[in-house]
Amino acid sequence: MDNGRGSSDLLHDAARRAARYLESLEKRPVAPSRGAVARLAALDVPLPDAGAAPDAVLAELDALVSPATMAMAGPRFFGFVIGGSLPAPLAASVLATAWDQNAAKFDVTPGVAALEKVALRWIVEALGLPAGTGGGFVTGATVANFAALAAALRAVLARVGWDVEAHGLFGAPPITVVVGDEVHVSVLKALAMLGLGRDRVFRVPVDAHGRMRADAVPRLDAPAVVCLQAGNVNTGAFDPATAIVPRAREAGAWVHVDGAFGLWAAAAPARAALMAGFEAADSWATDAHKWLNVPYDSGLVLVRDPEALRGAMTVSAAYLPEGGLRDPADFTPELSRRARGVELWAALRALGRSGLADLVERCCRHALRFADGLAAAGHRILNEVVLNQVLVSFGDADRTRRVIAAIQEEGTCWCGGTVWQGHAAMRVSVSSWATTEHDVERSLACMLAVADRVR
Ligand SMILES: *Cc1c(COP(=O)(O)O)cnc(C)c1O
Repeated sequence: MDNGRGSSDLLHDAARRAARYLESLEKRPVAPSRGAVARLAALDVPLPDAGAAPDAVLAELDALVSPATMAMAGPRFFGFVIGGSLPAPLAASVLATAWDQNAAKFDVTPGVAALEKVALRWIVEALGLPAGTGGGFVTGATVANFAALAAALRAVLARVGWDVEAHGLFGAPPITVVVGDEVHVSVLKALAMLGLGRDRVFRVPVDAHGRMRADAVPRLDAPAVVCLQAGNVNTGAFDPATAIVPRAREAGAWVHVDGAFGLWAAAAPARAALMAGFEAADSWATDAHKWLNVPYDSGLVLVRDPEALRGAMTVSAAYLPEGGLRDPADFTPELSRRARGVELWAALRALGRSGLADLVERCCRHALRFADGLAAAGHRILNEVVLNQVLVSFGDADRTRRVIAAIQEEGTCWCGGTVWQGHAAMRVSVSSWATTEHDVERSLACMLAVADRVR
């Protein structure tokens, strides 16, 4: 295969098509048209016997799939809590893909290993976590929760003399696992994968915002793991860490924090109070593909005691690093993987501390504007808008669902539906760097007009 000129033309073609795609997002509806989705049927052919030229492959992809994408990279997608991708990490991702580094070992791929080490330290600083906190670059918060809870399992059982990596859970002392009743499903999935069980957890009742009630946390006896949430996926609310964490740690429990997007509040001075007390936990899971706005496949597991994570994740229990070189694979479930830290580094390098603070704060301000605008028109806001999440009801469940469907169909913006403590609601999540005040006003006008029309 020609790695010279042919490949260069192809990459320029890919870059041109990518740029054209991003420019198209300003004008096209956020959701793909029914026609574009129907045309995907053309992909469904038997594996061709003969190959195709790379430029033809790219052209086919662009023609068929680009129009069938949801404009998540655009400024008016408010479904789920996902950001877009900042220009610097997007471009860095293209370069890093060309590097094609297998990021498992330091001595084989020193460039990306060094980059990840620095990015990790920057993240720990930006999020106000204890100096020396270790971590790994994983696919998302689900796997970050998994890896952190594996470290927790190792640590709490080691304290009672049980080596869980060697002997598994058979015959091990039982572990008490405490979660809030509003726990994210990914934490339960992680517990299930670890053999701790989805259903044997103690679920602490929550208040009207979805926050764990500190007075309802049971008395803890080690070994125990307490899972807190920083940023409820519906309301944006934070569990009361200052009331729970010191008590739990005193009792010998490991405290884990699912902060998939909420952890980033710590980077914005005006929101940092929400994160008070969470820095005293033992581990944290977050997504960089949410609020840091890097491309997908970018979660972070962070653990106060890096040795607990290494012990749980390393392929060989006997292995110890030489000369202080940090082998990335010792801190993640994966062995081979792409160098995810590249995009993270690029985003932080491009934003700086102040840019990151501004990104988080701007999204929160936009969310507040949505809430004010919707409330002023007489619609009921179901949550206290402390962060970037807004829950709005347009009346009964049926009408709310019809308004959501009509907003999605209209195409100016896209929001999803949810059920909050028994009430159907539309959820507006603002987490993209690309969203401007103009986008917010345009989207708000569309929401109000559509809600007026739907009876
Ligand atoms: C998004 C989210 C997750 C899961 O993150 P993935 O990256 O999708 O695996 C976990 N917890 C919370 C609170 C979330 O918002």
